[in-house]
Amino acid sequence: MNKEVEILVVGAGPAGLSAAIEAARYGADVLVVDENSKPGGQLFKQIHKFFGSRRHHAGVRGVDIGNELLDEVEKLGVEVMLNTVAYGIYPNDEGVALAVDGETGMIVHPQKIIMATGASENPLAFPGWTLPGVVGAGAIQTMINVNRVPVGERVLMIGSGNVGLIVSYQLLQSGAEVAGIVEAAPQLGGYGVHSAKVRRAGVPIFTGHTVLEAVPNEDKSGIVGAVIAEVDDKFQPVKGTEQFIACDCIGIAVGLTPDIALPAMAHVEFINAGRLGSQVPMHDRDMMTTQDGIYVAGDASGVEEASSAIEEGKLAGIAAAQSLGKISEAEAAEAKAKVWESLNQLRTGPFGAGRAQAKEQIIRQMEDWKVKQHA
Ligand SMILES: Cc1cc2nc3c(=O)[nH]c(=O)nc-3n(C[C@H](O)[C@H](O)[C@H](O)COP(=O)(O)OP(=O)(O)OC[C@H]3O[C@@H](n4cnc5c(N)ncnc54)[C@H](O)[C@@H]3O)c2cc1C
Repeated sequence: MNKEVEILVVGAGPAGLSAAIEAARYGADVLVVDENSKPGGQLFKQIHKFFGSRRHHAGVRGVDIGNELLDEVEKLGVEVMLNTVAYGIYPNDEGVALAVDGETGMIVHPQKIIMATGASENPLAFPGWTLPGVVGAGAIQTMINVNRVPVGERVLMIGSGNVGLIVSYQLLQSGAEVAGIVEAAPQLGGYGVHSAKVRRAGVPIFTGHTVLEAVPNEDKSGIVGAVIAEVDDKFQPVKGTEQFIACDCIGIAVGLTPDIALPAMAHVEFINAGRLGSQVPMHDRDMMTTQDGIYVAGDASGVEEASSAIEEGKLAGIAAAQSLGKISEAEAAEAKAKVWESLNQLRTGPFGAGRAQAKEQIIRQMEDWKVKQHA
């Protein structure tokens, strides 16, 4: 099967949906594909209320933000193909290969591509890490928040960034006990609002600690606990400080890595963007990569948050529509300036300022790259 489309958006998370909405609003013919059976990406796991400013959906639950985006997509008549993986991108305008429902192959010939593929959870290897009962925090969210399946009765969380903290709190809400949060750094990592919640709930906090092993049950069909230990200033375990924590599940929340398989297949240039990801597609202020007509947005372009993913998606959508001649340069400039104002607001404060710097570095490198190409 072959299909022609003006803009192909890969990923129906907040970035992809916002990109599709902006582009469709300006009259572009947009197709969104997502490998999942439901659209929304990570947003549909987020049952907590977002915070920040009203402009950035403060006080609204992630799942409701997702539903708002879906309503908009539907109103604009954007086609969304679910259970559809974009698994290949071919050079010389030979198209993007899709697997629909795991069976049917389809080649799409888009004029522009927006890659909004999100991020994957980082693994953490230690003895016993492949045992049943040792799971990523994202998988825990899917089980307890989306599918309503308990992951265990007593869970030990490794990692105290926002994901570790939020998922620990959601485990408590689901009726599980949280045996503790283990964090190698001397202090908890996520936003104060999230750490305050788990502290108030009496969750034991093990800062300056790491996990040494998961202890299996007799037939290795699950775990009975974990051994943790203090770490020194080089993050090495300190002998003699080992302690056993009884638990039947260990959650791993040690960061996310941009999902860059498709951009890599498209041969875009990458940059090490530090805290946003060690391999991030270089992109300009319009979110366009080093390949003409290929854009990135959201966590795939550097791991941040849903709010910034939404704004970056808008930028990519406006820019792609502009490059198709759907919107004048002046109108596009005005629309993009508004989005940048919103993004700059998001990238402030103790957490946001570092992200702003990392993004500026990506954009600067892209400008240098463009200069070299024209030299
Ligand atoms: C526990 C937790 C709590 C969070 N809390 C907040 C919060 O309070 N506030 C906030 O702003 N953010 C929060 N976030 C972050 C937020 O969820 C993400 O930053 C945001 O979802 C990123 O959006 P995205 O569109 O880039 O990617 P995603 O939401 O990950 O969407 C990407 C989509 O693309 C699909 N995909 C990938 N590759 C392909 C392919 N080849 N073919 C087809 N489909 C593909 C994926 O399956 C996915 O559906 C939280 C995240 C977590 C894990």
